[in-house]
Amino acid sequence: MKVEIEKLTIASARAGLRAREFSATELTEAAIAVMEAARPLNAMITETPERARAMAAESDRRLTRGEAGPLEGIPIAIKDLFCTDGVQTTAGSRILKGFIPPYESTVSANLWRAGAVMLGKANLDEFAMGSSNETSHFGRVENPWRRADGKPLVPGGSSGGSAAAVAAGFCLGATGTDTGGSIRQPASFTGIVGIKPTYGRCSRWGIVAFASSLDQAGPMTRTVRDAAIMLGAMASVDEKDSTSVDRPVPDYEAAMTGDVRGLRIGIPKEYRVDGMPAEIEALWRQGIDWLRSAGAEIVDVSLPHTGYALPAYYIVAPAEASSNLARYDGVRFGLRVPGNSLPDMYAKTRGEGFGAEVRRRILIGTYVLSAGYYDAYYVKAQQVRTLILRDFERAWERVDAILTPTAPSAAFGIGEKSDDPISMYLNDVFTVPVNLAGLPGISVPAGLSREGLPLGLQLIGRAFDEETLFRVGGVLEEAAGFSARPQTWWKG
Ligand code: GLN
Repeated sequence: MKVEIEKLTIASARAGLRAREFSATELTEAAIAVMEAARPLNAMITETPERARAMAAESDRRLTRGEAGPLEGIPIAIKDLFCTDGVQTTAGSRILKGFIPPYESTVSANLWRAGAVMLGKANLDEFAMGSSNETSHFGRVENPWRRADGKPLVPGGSSGGSAAAVAAGFCLGATGTDTGGSIRQPASFTGIVGIKPTYGRCSRWGIVAFASSLDQAGPMTRTVRDAAIMLGAMASVDEKDSTSVDRPVPDYEAAMTGDVRGLRIGIPKEYRVDGMPAEIEALWRQGIDWLRSAGAEIVDVSLPHTGYALPAYYIVAPAEASSNLARYDGVRFGLRVPGNSLPDMYAKTRGEGFGAEVRRRILIGTYVLSAGYYDAYYVKAQQVRTLILRDFERAWERVDAILTPTAPSAAFGIGEKSDDPISMYLNDVFTVPVNLAGLPGISVPAGLSREGLPLGLQLIGRAFDEETLFRVGGVLEEAAGFSARPQTWWKG
């Protein structure tokens, strides 16, 4: 049977597989065909069709025996920041080109155990540093969506390949990672759902580290229900990550009751930033109306330190990155450029292996950690981080979740911001406070811009209360009725 994977979701494919309407092999063949047709998007760094076929055959055996896991036979893409045993893992960097890990990340291992099928490794900004997927050594990713003028747009970043893969329709879900917005902002730019769980919900083991105190893995999917299903499979405590938390993984799908009556939704006034486009403001107001009509109580809240989140993030994240990236020295992983001494080899390898954005972060990071500046920058940023966390804690006394826009704009043009790091960093204004506070945040597609591009709304929740985000997110999704799909221009 010919399967139209572009029209499926994880939930509907699960039903189709169990009812034997199609097999995992048929679904995977459809995914591979659409993936190959979508190559102009450059969403994938490595395609693994043979592995996908073998995994699908295993899924079919388990489906026949009635032993199906929660994601049995579901084709997914893995952001190329997750180590995959025997499959090249690059982090989008030249310095890791050709690195084949002898181990599997905990999150991807959990997904395979749940029955998912690996289509390949998705493109990303180098070491997950970026908001546009333009910093990848393996070339930029193009957004499946275009404006009427047909100019190529960025898919957002850093999980831009994952977002494009889901939006283009060749996988039903993809893993992302989010250090300052890298799941939620690309989800918003491509009209899909993305959730960054609470820090500690998913194991970071086997994920190439960017900023260890901020990094979290999460799912990117077409629907809120699919995100709930996929997160349930990804999350776990892990003895190999001491920051993963030993709490039972709830049935996230069951949390989607469709009922938000009596829930209190906070609207933080500090997110009404200067220069926010009118259409973003209007969408936010629309979201407030939808939730109010559904019976939620809307409460104005204040998060007074919001304005300091971005500067604090761009100190803490580069500081941790500069330390994490010290391990790429040409000795153990990937690229080695010979030199006439050991320090010369280090310098040449790192100089040629890292791209401009990564070098910029290392310079900022080593600067803010250096003697004499450590107290002025790094310690100060950590203090600001505590204040941001306290802002949220105070808000949770009055509300159950917070509603904001996900990003200050729709997808922008390729090349439009790449020479202006500050304007690129401003993309993260609504997402970074959530990482600094370690909280969960979800982006739900809620409408289209004047130019016909997707826009997302973000819900922020209490630590380990992803259930409320799925519950409210499901109601928001239903009210928005977002059904637009990108034109498949890449099919020629
Ligand atoms: N855009 C942000 C940065 O470049 C966030 C990236 C991310 O979440 N990985 O740091």
